[in-house]
Amino acid sequence: MPLVRRISNFIFGSSCLGCGLFTEKLDPWLCPSCREELISLGKEPFFPQEDVVCLYTMNSLTRRLVHALKYHHMPGLASYLVKQSAACRGREVFMWFDLLKKPFLLIPIPLSSSRYRERGYNQTEKIAFALASHLEGVVFHGVVRRSFSESQTKLSVEERKRNVAGVFELKKKIPEGRSTCIIIDDVYTTGATTKACSYALLQENKLDVKICTLLFEKPVSAKLDLVADHDVEWD
Ligand SMILES: [Zn+2]
Repeated sequence: MPLVRRISNFIFGSSCLGCGLFTEKLDPWLCPSCREELISLGKEPFFPQEDVVCLYTMNSLTRRLVHALKYHHMPGLASYLVKQSAACRGREVFMWFDLLKKPFLLIPIPLSSSRYRERGYNQTEKIAFALASHLEGVVFHGVVRRSFSESQTKLSVEERKRNVAGVFELKKKIPEGRSTCIIIDDVYTTGATTKACSYALLQENKLDVKICTLLFEKPVSAKLDLVADHDVEWD
């Protein structure tokens, strides 16, 4: 837990990240009621496409938790969310992965260097390490993000997909014997970002590529697409 939150809790008491309730019964992020809700949501992963699994669907609770993971300096929420999800041993997503050829290479979507400096960590890397501890896999840092300066706000979904296609580059050789790659991201909406990363991986390699994200969000607006795909601020 970050120091600021610890001090705040000491002075003001602890509040649940889900509902804001002040209670001594936090775990340490959620009150018992919100925790129960999260566990229930974690039992219902969503598969938007054949090769894509999202550990949670978006509701007010999961949205708040991922927002805190990204913007309130709470990297510990990544392992917390993975632990409550169906990616743990014996659960649905774990069994889905268990059918694939091991060992896995888990590839977090990289942040831009400026965003990394500002945040101090990459939330998708935290998610990848949390998943690696449950699955038989290692985290691979061989993909880099090229700079992406053109404004995307006025483009259509199709135009954005085309523009983002070349945004990732494979900088290191895929280690021998790794044929299954799992691309890790925080939110899946149109899938443009993860598909672009997949494209970079498949240029020179024969790989089975899967995608795993914490959340699925319906692409209801261009703004949400942009937030999810290009890591801009999320209101
Ligand atoms: Zn609560």
